[in-house]
Amino acid sequence: MKEIGEGLPVFPRGGCLTSAWAALRSLTVLAPAYRRLQGKASVKVDVGPPLQLVIFRRDLRVEDNPALISALEAGPALGLYVLDDNADGRPLGEAARWWLHHALMDLRLELADLGVPLVLRKGSELDEVMDVAGCARVRDVHWNRRCTAAGALADGPLSRELERRGLRCRTFESGYLRKPGEVRTKSGGLFRVFTPFYRAMNRLGDPPRPLAAPPARLAPAAPAIPLSSEALRDLKLLPPSQSRRSGLSEAWAPASQSAKFVLSAFLESRIDEYHERRDRPDLDGVSRMSPYLAFGQISARQVWHAVKLRCGQDGPGRGMSAFLRQLVWRDFCANLLLQAPDLAERPFRKDYSRFPWRRDDALLEAWQNGATGYPLIDAGMRQLAVTGWMHNRVRMAVGSFLTKHLLLPWRAGERWFWDRLVDADPAQNPANWQWVAGCGADAVPYFRIFNPILQGQRFDPEGIYRRRWLPGSTGYGPGEAGVAPIVDHRQARARALGMYKEFREAR
Ligand SMILES: Cc1cc2nc3c(=O)[nH]c(=O)nc-3n(C[C@H](O)[C@H](O)[C@H](O)COP(=O)(O)OP(=O)(O)OC[C@H]3O[C@@H](n4cnc5c(N)ncnc54)[C@H](O)[C@@H]3O)c2cc1C
Repeated sequence: MKEIGEGLPVFPRGGCLTSAWAALRSLTVLAPAYRRLQGKASVKVDVGPPLQLVIFRRDLRVEDNPALISALEAGPALGLYVLDDNADGRPLGEAARWWLHHALMDLRLELADLGVPLVLRKGSELDEVMDVAGCARVRDVHWNRRCTAAGALADGPLSRELERRGLRCRTFESGYLRKPGEVRTKSGGLFRVFTPFYRAMNRLGDPPRPLAAPPARLAPAAPAIPLSSEALRDLKLLPPSQSRRSGLSEAWAPASQSAKFVLSAFLESRIDEYHERRDRPDLDGVSRMSPYLAFGQISARQVWHAVKLRCGQDGPGRGMSAFLRQLVWRDFCANLLLQAPDLAERPFRKDYSRFPWRRDDALLEAWQNGATGYPLIDAGMRQLAVTGWMHNRVRMAVGSFLTKHLLLPWRAGERWFWDRLVDADPAQNPANWQWVAGCGADAVPYFRIFNPILQGQRFDPEGIYRRRWLPGSTGYGPGEAGVAPIVDHRQARARALGMYKEFREAR
């Protein structure tokens, strides 16, 4: 596969030389002296029409991408991805960065088929957009809006600054089934409980149909432009550890075409039993679409309508309905993030900010390293460490174990997942952690404490999942994987019940 940046008419990073090159705009020039100085750069100056700039974020696809399609309809386009540590309010974690590296490599190839070069930058998105717009002859700037507070906040100054410079902004929604905030209660408020949200979504009918990819032949090639771009490797997205990289590569194919293959395989052979098998980590029962959705390599609307296409005349069966319901959970989490922009930092139920979480680094490390002595928890944490993903049932169990058995703060778990998950998502991760911990909007009742022994025995009855991640383990009982349990299940359960009850009564 080609290195990103190869063959692109770009400078290496270090400035756009706007004024110098502006004078040469009407010429096509190669600058051998500059090339000698800077290594592999080639420099060309365009003579073509103005460009349409498309900013890519968590929408790394060419199909059903309204910003890209709008740009291509208006003229030759240029893509830009800025690695901005503030985009989600915090830098991406290690596993997500690995995914992003491959997704960008893939996007660059897909865009090349449409005649759209992809420029990579790092730093503040606002600064880099202004720099690129100033260097290339950009007329309009197109992007799909984000749902995080940091992202949404950044869009305001971006539009204002672009408009101040005489550029037009075209912005779109593309991340969810419906625009976050669109689904409202009868009194016009936002939902805090999932089931009424789900019913309201259903009353609105199917979400809008996805847009097709622009056909390559209609996409005019972007002219050569003098621009600097980071080489993909210089974004330093890959983890230093070779074994970490191998584990992720063996588990995933992070390209948008793979998203479609994974989805079709799921629709062909597994979706009809989804409702019966989705809780079984030992079975291949779920879709594994989450990282593709998290990076927007496929849109939720594409997934929704692909399922609907497969329905017979009788409508979706139980498996399909259960799967579509999970996709609505994804929208619900975005709706919660809209109401609580600090969802990753503070409990949705504000009184929980006084909950007396314990501090114990040794216990936290045991949980992180899969050394709690409870095989279900340790198997899940190993699966996460190796593949960057964990089955949903096990995510709930490890979350419950951290916040209830160990009484450690949900934020510590959220942060660990943020760093380790390939699908780490700014809405779903904190919303689910708060659900598990009991401080979320529509949270699990405080007295529901997942029993790691029974959960393992029930959802992995033959121990297939357990042995895969803990070879040599003999059962789901404490210590049955050769590690002494760090807490006693009964005592920890009783302590958590007491603590939660006391806290609730004192509120
Ligand atoms: C503590 C905890 C943290 C989580 N963190 C994340 C996260 O960072 N990113 C993430 O994508 N999911 C997260 N989830 C939700 C869920 O575990 C994953 O979406 C699911 O396991 C992904 O596998 P899948 O694509 O095979 O899911 P499937 O069962 O095939 O579901 C299809 C899609 O529905 C959505 N979905 C499913 N379950 C949920 C849910 N509980 N909440 C919101 N959307 C859901 C996802 O987009 C998923 O890809 C978390 C769950 C828990 C309990």
